[in-house]
Amino acid sequence: MDRQQVVIVGGGVVGTMHALEAVRRGWRVVHLEADAGPRRASVRNFGLVWVSGRAAGAELDLGLRARELWEAIAASAPGVGFRANGSVTVATDAAELALMEEVAARPDGDARELTVLDGNGVRSANPAVRGPVLGGLLCRRDAVVEPGTVLGSVRESLRGSARYQWLPGRRAVAVETETVVDHTGAVHRGSLVLVCPGDALSGLGGAVGTALDRAPVRRCRLQMMQTGPAPETLATSLADADSMRYYPAFDLAGRLDLPEPAPATAQWGMQLLLVQRAAGGLTIGDTHVYDEPFDFAVEEHLYDDLRTRAERVLGGPLPPVIRRWAGIYTGVTDDRIYYRSSPDPGVVVVTGPAGRGMTLSPAIAEETWEGLTQ
Ligand SMILES: Cc1cc2nc3c(=O)[nH]c(=O)nc-3n(C[C@H](O)[C@H](O)[C@H](O)COP(=O)(O)OP(=O)(O)OC[C@H]3O[C@@H](n4cnc5c(N)ncnc54)[C@H](O)[C@@H]3O)c2cc1C
Repeated sequence: MDRQQVVIVGGGVVGTMHALEAVRRGWRVVHLEADAGPRRASVRNFGLVWVSGRAAGAELDLGLRARELWEAIAASAPGVGFRANGSVTVATDAAELALMEEVAARPDGDARELTVLDGNGVRSANPAVRGPVLGGLLCRRDAVVEPGTVLGSVRESLRGSARYQWLPGRRAVAVETETVVDHTGAVHRGSLVLVCPGDALSGLGGAVGTALDRAPVRRCRLQMMQTGPAPETLATSLADADSMRYYPAFDLAGRLDLPEPAPATAQWGMQLLLVQRAAGGLTIGDTHVYDEPFDFAVEEHLYDDLRTRAERVLGGPLPPVIRRWAGIYTGVTDDRIYYRSSPDPGVVVVTGPAGRGMTLSPAIAEETWEGLTQ
């Protein structure tokens, strides 16, 4: 038995960041992914490294650390596409602006690099905003990465190391101390096993299966779309004020004064997030549905709603939509930031970072490894 070999199950961003951290620490990694290439939440998201919305305290600290790590990772994996472009959340109502002022005035407002803007300030921070806005919240600490190329680029940076073995198309079917069996019957051994299954919460038996069955997590399904290239470069990512209904940073007194949400917002958990991809297209979402079983189809009227919101902020028509998809993430339902447990000696399960998993994954991996080597 190689005492410094880890078997990692799951090739999403959480598993991949744990692999990166393992190689950095001198471990050998056998990395299993069920699909021919990762196809789940980690490639379906906005790529937002979203510091502005993090809860004060441990969650914000983890977000700030993760942002530092993303920037460093991008230096040796250019396909990560890290851009420190910041974000503007737009307000069209006095109560929305008041909540922005409340969050910016908190002691951690400086760490988030928050500035409250009037309408002209919004237009000068992001000249692509040509719709009617009363003001907005600029967060210079927000950033973006490219979900379509992050995982491949990080794996490419690891391939240079003789210590990393990538095994796509291998579904782990049994996991126990020091041993993972995949669906072909192959046995992979390591002194440590990390299981990062994303939303695949069933299918692994034994203690890991029981832990995932009992974990305080739930799944959420989101609708997204992508336009062709926009005619101009957007200076920042954009959000509408409905986003403040969901992100814990805005869980302040002023949230109660926000206007009544539109029926679709209340029913589908809608908000506008708009991110420009490195190639110029706009990734736009999203919606939140928790009741399972999830629909197999996407709802066109929600795309109409998102398009209307985006065009209202931009003050003109969107480029044609060229791709639509839904994605599922897993989030903890208690006050943890993500779920980690050790159901068998030397076996660690990590999942459940919810809509902050892309943001936090490098720091989550660092925390896991810090805990393992203490
Ligand atoms: C639409 C959408 C938008 C989002 N936007 C953002 C955002 O902008 N910013 C942000 O911070 N977060 C965002 N998130 C959340 C973020 O994408 C997730 O938290 C994160 O990707 C979870 O990563 P993961 O590796 O745990 O899961 P996944 O990406 O689901 O990866 C898990 C992998 O494990 C593999 N696997 C599972 N079981 C096995 C097995 N038995 N054997 C082998 N392989 C297995 C799966 O095939 C999969 O590839 C978004 C999520 C969605 C769905």
